[in-house]
Amino acid sequence: MERKTGWEIWDENKIKDAFSYAEEYKNFLSKNKTVRKFVKSVVLEAEKYGFKNLSEFKSLKKGDRFYKINKGREVILGVIGNKKLVEGCKFIVSHIDCPRIDLKTSPLYEDESIALFKTYYYGGIKKYQWLTIPLSIHGVIFLKDGTFKEIEIGENENEPVFTITDLLPHLAKEQMKKTIEEGFPGENLNVFVGTIPDKEKEKEKVKSNILKILKDFYGIEEDDFISSEIELVPAGKAKDSGLDKSLVLSYGQDDRVCAYTSFTSFLKNLELENNNFCLLVDQEEIGSRGTTSASSSFFEYFIEEVIEKSGYSITDLKKLFENSKAISADVNTLLDPNYKDAYEPKNTAKIGCGVVLTKITGGKGKGGSTEPVGEYIAYIRKIFDKNNVLWQPGEIGRLELGGGGTVASYFARYNIDTIDCGTGVLSMHAPFELTSKADIYSTFEAYSAFYKEE
Ligand code: MN
Ligand code: MN
Repeated sequence: MERKTGWEIWDENKIKDAFSYAEEYKNFLSKNKTVRKFVKSVVLEAEKYGFKNLSEFKSLKKGDRFYKINKGREVILGVIGNKKLVEGCKFIVSHIDCPRIDLKTSPLYEDESIALFKTYYYGGIKKYQWLTIPLSIHGVIFLKDGTFKEIEIGENENEPVFTITDLLPHLAKEQMKKTIEEGFPGENLNVFVGTIPDKEKEKEKVKSNILKILKDFYGIEEDDFISSEIELVPAGKAKDSGLDKSLVLSYGQDDRVCAYTSFTSFLKNLELENNNFCLLVDQEEIGSRGTTSASSSFFEYFIEEVIEKSGYSITDLKKLFENSKAISADVNTLLDPNYKDAYEPKNTAKIGCGVVLTKITGGKGKGGSTEPVGEYIAYIRKIFDKNNVLWQPGEIGRLELGGGGTVASYFARYNIDTIDCGTGVLSMHAPFELTSKADIYSTFEAYSAFYKEE
């Protein structure tokens, strides 16, 4: 089926709406480059709409707006509608963690009179893409006395940035012969931190000077790194891309594009019949295993609390899940003209042609996929078409080349109808990912339709 882009179909006003929505989106991305910052900003925004911590409610009734934060790195927003809870809820779940470069437990060392940080890469990256670009440092250091220090260096004009070096091409004859995996070993991703020595010291003079700076500015010692969450991400703001400015180039669009579109559509649709929830989870890029990930029992306990405070019993939980609907809001691939061979064009989404509805994630013989029932896919199609949402079907790529997963399975396991639906992204997991403003806006419209419709 021939698909048309939003630019072809939409009138001038709608295109204007898509562009102005993208401005707010870029701004939010630029300001919230870590999971913790994203959670904080979402809660601040929700509070403007009257949302309060769930613990402040003794009981819940129609119209109540609440949130619950899990350890600063996950948040669920909810609003009670007219419908009985056991008749079902609407959930949109996205992840707010993104590929990045984390500091190792004992990161700081000196080599050849240079102070460096040893790092772990977080998530599935092509390591060479993260070399030689300006990086900023973001994070929190938790001290033994219960206090914490926040660090952000490299986002403002007058602040230094950081970088990981690469070998000059003149000497890369051996490196070029290796596979990409072997040519860029993870242990080489060491970040330059400084080169000025502390002349009063006998050895590790440069490292000592860096420790002095850390002590003076942040009050932290070398041992404090173990209880820190410090990461390096591409420095700078989200930008328009292309002469026509139709694209957004930014760090962290997987999956903050779906997180942003889901929580903004959630906040725009509060006066409704439905019991709506917006879930922003962590740790998807490393397999969803931790306390703040989609597999954590936090979600289940949150729903139990909502059920009890609404006057139902825990035994109603299964019924609630059975009657509920969920969107696993995560990005998908787009047909890339530079790498056509990797895709099966008939089943791959195209840039600008709208939000991507994905029946099958995974690879090979649907391995790892949660494949929703046909009835649910028909329901989603119906509400998208009814609300003039620009959407397209899409799968991740050619069979047997690889594949990918989302958090869908953690909701499907409760017998909640769950489908993958999100924005298409080019250069996924690269320091700077590329999206279309038409696709971002149609994702927002798709999630709005989902929250709105019966
Ligand atoms: Mn993702
Ligand atoms: Mn990802």
